[in-house]
Amino acid sequence: MWIGVDDTDSVRGGCTTYLARLILERLTDQGFGIIGYPRLVRLNPNIPWKTRGNGAIALQVGRGRGHKMPIADLHGRPLHASPVLQTDLEEDEYTSAHATVNELVRAHAFFDDKKTNPGVVLLPKPPDPRWYREAVTSVVSLDRVQKELIKSGALFTPYKNGRGLIGATAAIAWSLGDSTYEIISYRERSRWGTPRSLDAGSVIAMDQASPSTFDNYDYLHECPRIAPHSPCPILYGIRGEDPGDLLKARGLVRSEDVESWVLFHSNQGTDDHILRKSIREISSFESVAITGRVAQAPRTIPGGHVVFAVDDGSGTIACAAYEPTKEFRTVVRGLRCGDELVVYGGVRDEPRTVNLEKIQVLGLVEIREKEENPVCPQCGKHMKSRGRNQGYRCIVCGCTSKMARFRTVERSVAVGWYEVPVCARRHLSKSLKRMAPLAVVSGTG
Ligand code: ATP
Repeated sequence: MWIGVDDTDSVRGGCTTYLARLILERLTDQGFGIIGYPRLVRLNPNIPWKTRGNGAIALQVGRGRGHKMPIADLHGRPLHASPVLQTDLEEDEYTSAHATVNELVRAHAFFDDKKTNPGVVLLPKPPDPRWYREAVTSVVSLDRVQKELIKSGALFTPYKNGRGLIGATAAIAWSLGDSTYEIISYRERSRWGTPRSLDAGSVIAMDQASPSTFDNYDYLHECPRIAPHSPCPILYGIRGEDPGDLLKARGLVRSEDVESWVLFHSNQGTDDHILRKSIREISSFESVAITGRVAQAPRTIPGGHVVFAVDDGSGTIACAAYEPTKEFRTVVRGLRCGDELVVYGGVRDEPRTVNLEKIQVLGLVEIREKEENPVCPQCGKHMKSRGRNQGYRCIVCGCTSKMARFRTVERSVAVGWYEVPVCARRHLSKSLKRMAPLAVVSGTG
């Protein structure tokens, strides 16, 4: 049986992943087995009603078999999952698990926040993966999700406007394609809302000793990226390719006491949100990859944002490197009209703009600038211009020439990939580190 939960937290506190930690504790107390890693699934990052990172959670419960793997430590109690399901739950266990999850949601969700609309879904098997694809790339209607849940015999509970059902269903529907892991350490309850105590030096040491992890430390801005800044229960989360390495990496971070940790399987860092599209086909709230040419040179607008336009033959769209993308803007400023590139980013509706996450420069136009007027072959003196587009003439001997001397301007950008720095990276964005060896020339960030 699969459990999905979403939309329980608020900017004032809480975290849906923490609810997963509580559900794991309660269900295993009741004798249920956990199958596979719990899942942290990020959905469409452009959804206007998200709280922060549009994350939902899912886990599979039943009786399993196979070599058990560590998935959590809950206040000193280690928890293991079986890799494969052997027997599913009986009907009464199914109902009892539903009651437990709802009890926890009722006790811990931030119902008084008008943006919090929890949803709990229990399904005997995952729905078609297209429910995930749609939820990570577009806007899904709650009505359609509810109809699908009824059709597939789900037990589900919507709270308030019930929107959380969309994310809860999509998290169960996620079919592990490209994937990563995140180990999340939680704070002692008494410390929630207070400044986090985390040793930055140990984060650097962990980062350097753990090559399969990513986005741990922003070396340019000298700050750890593993801890959130919100008042939520998370102390820090380390992301990476390998669960075993994450367990070791966690042991290298020095911090305040960790109350518990959970190891999640995730779609973070996969670019699952990106659709390859022509400009004409783009809809609002999508994230896209567009191949085209720079049609309007970059300019810096008030606020320090850098904007330019791309044309792909089907239309033109504005692209922006916003101020928080820091030195990535320097790369963007180096683009010139005619440069060929692929732009990746979320589409903002009004004004319609691609909020850049990364770019791949495919080709650069040659830029030539006038170096000097032509030199007279007879007198050796520089000729004078005869007026716009009328060539040059030697004032000594009257010799003429059509062409001045030009030189090729050295470009500040090279062909290759460039991404925003870690501090501005979206959860779903695939970093160049994960794309290697594809990303031969890596840029800022
Ligand atoms: P956090 O990351 O801090 O857990 P959040 O950013 O995930 O919070 P939520 O509180 O989960 O934000 O709110 C997102 C809401 O949007 C949820 O109700 C979720 O079901 C819904 N949602 C997610 N993806 C889509 C989508 N593609 N279309 C429509 N609704 C969506």
